[in-house]
Amino acid sequence: MAVKMIIGLQYGDEGKGRAVHYEAKNASIVIRATGGSNAGHTVVANGKKYAMHLLPSAIIRPEVLSIIGPGVVADLEILAQEIQQMREANIKVERQNFIVSERTHITFPHHKQLDRLYEMLKANKVGTTGRGVGTTYEEKARRTNLRMHDLFIEPSELKSKIQENLKVYNVLVAEANKQIEQGIYTEEKFPIITLEEEYEYCMKYKESIKEFVADIYPILDKAIQKDEVIIIEGAQSFWLDNDHGDYPMTTSSNPNASGTASGAGIGPTLVKEVIGVIKAYTSRVGNGPFVTEQENEIGDCIRNWGHEYGTTTGRPRRIGFLDLVMIKHTKNISGLTSLCINHLDTIGKLDKINVCIGYKYKGKEIKHVPIDKQNCQPIYQQLKGGWNTEGITSFEELPKEAQEYIYFIEKYIGIPVKYIGVGADEKQTIIK
Ligand code: GDP
Ligand code: MG
Repeated sequence: MAVKMIIGLQYGDEGKGRAVHYEAKNASIVIRATGGSNAGHTVVANGKKYAMHLLPSAIIRPEVLSIIGPGVVADLEILAQEIQQMREANIKVERQNFIVSERTHITFPHHKQLDRLYEMLKANKVGTTGRGVGTTYEEKARRTNLRMHDLFIEPSELKSKIQENLKVYNVLVAEANKQIEQGIYTEEKFPIITLEEEYEYCMKYKESIKEFVADIYPILDKAIQKDEVIIIEGAQSFWLDNDHGDYPMTTSSNPNASGTASGAGIGPTLVKEVIGVIKAYTSRVGNGPFVTEQENEIGDCIRNWGHEYGTTTGRPRRIGFLDLVMIKHTKNISGLTSLCINHLDTIGKLDKINVCIGYKYKGKEIKHVPIDKQNCQPIYQQLKGGWNTEGITSFEELPKEAQEYIYFIEKYIGIPVKYIGVGADEKQTIIK
């Protein structure tokens, strides 16, 4: 089982980071596949908490080669900061244990402004993190964006690429600022961004990133040939997938298993395990449909027990019960082989737990997810809660109700649960 993948099945923040860190114990390579600095992956190890945005969650393990893959978009400033922060925390970040693909796209300062501009124009706000991730992907698709490799080309060539990439932004800003002046929008005006500014941005971070930029394919080839364990780290989550998720309230990449494999540069037949990570309830950051949402005392309690505030933005996360219909929907699309369930400790604090096992939709009961998920009402089955997982390290030791909760999920989805999180620390992981 050499290549394994870890992806989220809900709306993000399921605890992928902790699962990746755990699986990385036996790996030689961990490769982050998609998304940008909008991701926030938390690992609690050796009694310390680490929050990664761009760096793979295995960076804490110096013996593992962490790779940022071609499907990722990277903000140079955030990448340089994160490397610095890790080093300050005595985490090794050297060429030996960290590489960035030369094909990884660069997020520029104007991408963040563009993010704000689009949100201003949109009637239905997506609620993006404002980090310029979607707008980097957009320019990638428009085929004007720059990649890591471009930082090291001839200065004149680099400048003309930056110039080309800035054109659309500055045209849009001129018009947006006119409309702001006319009072159509109340936003602050958008800055014109010059070629020099973005060239300086490249020069400022180029040196600190230089040693890490490499052609990753020969490295992956070698590891695959030797049957070494490679973990592909997904970001965001299935229901934020631009093709299969809650479009348009989605992210700009494809966090399903195929998109994640593509972002890493590893073909689907090589991926032997696809581990889907879920929380024992549901949380969502940003707007979009949420069938089991609890905008009430129950939601508030779970938010507080689970510390449900975004790693990237600090925003309170929207909270709801576990929706098994939307998780089962991902099973074949992502070819799942097992599940990791986190926050079993958190949900056990409720005495009675609702689990969504079907939807009421257009007067009928259904067990699949229609395109207009927002028009579905949940059908719940109530399970017994009220358990305490403190100090428990094996499945057998778990209270009967907690075990039944896990069995219920396994039976409904039809795949085995591999890991259970009963706390944020790596030691609070139960192997089933
Ligand atoms: P990711 O984006 O999927 O990597 O997840 P995040 O790190 O953004 O969010 C998960 C949050 O839950 C983090 O604060 C984790 O430390 C925490 N966490 C993960 N698993 C568990 C668990 O089993 N129990 C508790 N109480 N916290 C957990
Ligand atoms: Mg997160």
